[in-house]
Amino acid sequence: MSPAFLGRATDLLRAAALRWGSLRRAERASRGEILALQRARLARLLEHAARRSPFYVRRWGGKVPAAEDLGSLEPISKRELLGEGLEEALTDRSLTREKLRGYLGLPGRHPYVVLATSGTTGEPAIVPYSRREWIEGLACSMRGQARHSPGLLGLLKVGGRMASVATQNPIHASTQLARSFELVPGQRLAVPAGELRGESLRRLEAFGPAMLAGYPSAMDALARETLEGRLRIGPRVVLTGGETVSPALRERVRAAWGAEVFDCYGLTETLVIAWECREHRGLHIDEDAVVLEPVDEEDRPVAPGERGSAVLVTNLFNGTLPVIRYRVGDMLGVSDEPCPCGLPFARIVSIEGRREEVLELRGADGALVAVSPTVVETPLEVLDGVRRFQLHAAEGVLTVVVAPRGGSAEGREHRERLGRAVEEAVARALAPHGVAAGSARVEVSETLEDERGATDKRRRVLRDAR
Ligand SMILES: [Zn+2]
Repeated sequence: MSPAFLGRATDLLRAAALRWGSLRRAERASRGEILALQRARLARLLEHAARRSPFYVRRWGGKVPAAEDLGSLEPISKRELLGEGLEEALTDRSLTREKLRGYLGLPGRHPYVVLATSGTTGEPAIVPYSRREWIEGLACSMRGQARHSPGLLGLLKVGGRMASVATQNPIHASTQLARSFELVPGQRLAVPAGELRGESLRRLEAFGPAMLAGYPSAMDALARETLEGRLRIGPRVVLTGGETVSPALRERVRAAWGAEVFDCYGLTETLVIAWECREHRGLHIDEDAVVLEPVDEEDRPVAPGERGSAVLVTNLFNGTLPVIRYRVGDMLGVSDEPCPCGLPFARIVSIEGRREEVLELRGADGALVAVSPTVVETPLEVLDGVRRFQLHAAEGVLTVVVAPRGGSAEGREHRERLGRAVEEAVARALAPHGVAAGSARVEVSETLEDERGATDKRRRVLRDAR
């Protein structure tokens, strides 16, 4: 048995113990008990951050805020926390950004799991979890996934063959989470979201997944392939995340496979922390692991159920990097009206503008097709010669601006070659999604406009290649 296998098995066993212990009790608790548990964990987090993190010591003037006063703490931007503030915010003072970057995407078992967020601040931001914190994230995923595949078999995910269609970049949270559940060889198939054609579809067909997981746009592409007779699979459950799920997608998935869609919500800064139940009345929030506060443009709380223009996120289980009232641009509404399923957790009842902005591109049939940026990002992130790139969709046409490695020293011929390679990679990635040829153009430029202000959606997608 390989050390990697033993490491994964150990993590999963510890996560399972947590999932069937305190996380199970929380599921059966009353609403009042959940709120009390949340408040107690919040108090511990605030004290830990106020004593151990110089970033929070400075912001809070050396005081320990009370859990009841969370709403009076000043919200924190991504740039403040994960940009210049990162090293100051870490509670283990022996950690540095350089040291953490060394763990990024590294396979095997290490003291820290380090993930990269989408690089909307211009530089790739990293989020570390200690091994114990990561295991709590895994336990939340186990509990959430049991909502659509309950029982003991669902526990370790060995009951069903699962195909995940997403980015396969190891620095992303979704890839790391999916890999953590890979215990039985051959039970999982990973299909890059940018390769939904020929060979990949045949592999998917031969695999015969009981469960499909991925971006809604990728699920939509596969449902269309099935309805048009080019793909024969029959998943019972479709798990989505990362983009808004439309009623049309649910309809198409039902028509193609007779399957139900279960959506989930997560961030690199929290892992996956909200899950749809069988009632399909929104996504139950893991309130024993996070606090979500939907707010308006001035960071004031919105009325229950009403959609905010941003959400302030507090992660209750990451003590390594305390994330407290951290502003995320997702527009969501939260309701604590009881759900017929009986879970005590409040629900995300409406959501728009997920972190991963969908690109609307002109399809071969003239209509607009929604494509996840990841479809284009994944091949570009690994293309030689690309330093950074930016995506911008307008009027059905995608513009890809690429900054070459080596800058202007490389000369015109090199830039032209790079431009052609990017064009080919982008066209290959988009074709299986039904995007019309010529719906993407490529520019090679030494410098990309940095994204200032997260509200400028036109320049939302900016990525650094590895
Ligand atoms: Zn429910």
